[in-house]
Amino acid sequence: MHSTTGQAKATKYIFVTGGVSSSLGKGIISASLAKLLQARGMKVTIQKLDPYINIDPGTLNPYEHGECYVTDDGAETDLDLGHYERFLNVRTSQANNITTGRIYQSVIDKERRGEYLGRTVQVIPHITDEIKRCVQILGEGDRYDFVITEIGGTVGDIESLPYIEAVRQMRWEHPEDTLVVHLTLVPYLKAAGELKTKPTQHSVKQLLEFGVQPDILVCRTEHNLSKSIRNKLARFCNVGVEAVIQSIDAKTIYDVPLLMQQERLDEVVLKKLGVPSDGDIDLGNWLNFLEKHKNPEGTVEIALVGKYVELQDSYKSIVEAFTHSGAACGVKVNIRWVHSEQVQANEIDKLFCNVDGILVAPGFGSRGIDGKIEAIRYAREQGVPFFGICLGMQCAVIEFARNVLGLPEAHSTEIKDYTPDPVIDLMEEQKGLADMGGTMRLGAYPCNLAEGFIAASAYGAEATEERHRHRYEFNDAYRERFVEAGMIPSGTHPDSNLVEIVEIPGHPWFLGAQFHPEYKSTVAEPHPLFTSFVQAVVAHTKSKEGITSKSGQASA
Ligand code: GLN
Repeated sequence: MHSTTGQAKATKYIFVTGGVSSSLGKGIISASLAKLLQARGMKVTIQKLDPYINIDPGTLNPYEHGECYVTDDGAETDLDLGHYERFLNVRTSQANNITTGRIYQSVIDKERRGEYLGRTVQVIPHITDEIKRCVQILGEGDRYDFVITEIGGTVGDIESLPYIEAVRQMRWEHPEDTLVVHLTLVPYLKAAGELKTKPTQHSVKQLLEFGVQPDILVCRTEHNLSKSIRNKLARFCNVGVEAVIQSIDAKTIYDVPLLMQQERLDEVVLKKLGVPSDGDIDLGNWLNFLEKHKNPEGTVEIALVGKYVELQDSYKSIVEAFTHSGAACGVKVNIRWVHSEQVQANEIDKLFCNVDGILVAPGFGSRGIDGKIEAIRYAREQGVPFFGICLGMQCAVIEFARNVLGLPEAHSTEIKDYTPDPVIDLMEEQKGLADMGGTMRLGAYPCNLAEGFIAASAYGAEATEERHRHRYEFNDAYRERFVEAGMIPSGTHPDSNLVEIVEIPGHPWFLGAQFHPEYKSTVAEPHPLFTSFVQAVVAHTKSKEGITSKSGQASA
């Protein structure tokens, strides 16, 4: 492959399809396979094809689709891309997430430009050609040895048919360089006391009807697959028994690459693609992380205040960033999920009782805003470490304006059209935009870090680059008053001087970021702000314990 011989060989394309049921974890299996190939020195990227008609998930409600993940180049994408980056520590881009909406949009645009020269535009070949183009674009320029393409949905869904057809065509056109991994479910029937292979047989039959023979079966299961079950699956589904891979329930998603390695998924893939598999595999850093993650020296509890707490996938990257930074600090971070609509001033002590830190989450719209502001007031006044992200930072600014600057009606114009003190206001470039999709301030922007504050010392740098997804900003007209009263812009955009980070020096740890640091946290590189926050949380817990044991001594 490119990385080892230096000789350009064809990029290999691995497709991951799903059968029987949704939610089997195609994203984690794809990311785990990619991790194993990467640990062998290969260059790998992962792509997700989503069969829905939205152009991207940017306009989707988190209840529909969980978190919207943002890439450096400003793509609003599926949360699986977050797993890809967290596992591989390789940046993804717009090209890594394609939806049916985008495919059709591009075909229709070409039709309008007359590029089809008067021909009838059809699903086959035009839509399937566009799908194949979007897959192969990642293989251009020898950037990657492997492109792993995860196909959203379940085989047999009407909406994923063109994708499966595109896979069939690519298999036919490049038999040596393509491979299909089918992820399926082998359910355990308690009453029969048996694992059942029939659903897998049916889903493979369905794939075969569309002309696709899977090369490898990855079988999600709650119990070990016996030899005879493996043989049965192999026989009925036309794969070698070594290509029946068990994927048993794991304690954490970070165990899955190791489980796949035990099952030799990477070796089977390489063998089938004719790539030598005798090189070393280096998972040292991964194992170090797992070791620390599984053997913490202590536990801390951080309240996560948001309005989608019943749907924790909405905050996926934040939760994972705590996993990474917790391991880096030698602690397990437990999250206390606090619904922002339930935060009331008179019950606040109960809600945040004994909590070691408070994070106020990103979000849109007015629901739960008052609770977020109350939570921040509590953190500020009680000296509890506080981290505000995007809307969480904006709420920290509003809280400070109301309760420290004495501007009781201060607000964000997102929440209240007219307020005498719009401390958070629409960004200049957002004014007059009518389209909702893809029009926010999106993707990576540079940020200068002022010396002597938490941010600069956490990053150990004078500048950084972070990903954004917002329309509103800190209103510069109020900057001086904030600085005088003790809330300092410690991170600003180099050209526009937009406020990107605020801090309150003197508080144990109080930081609001207009960007989303959670998107950039990976196993290999936990995010410095999360790590600094967790360190402060640990210190806060220790000081609390000190106070309790001292008072215990006094009363004894
Ligand atoms: N709703 C806020 C804005 O658009 C914050 C967005 C966010 O938290 N991602 O500016």
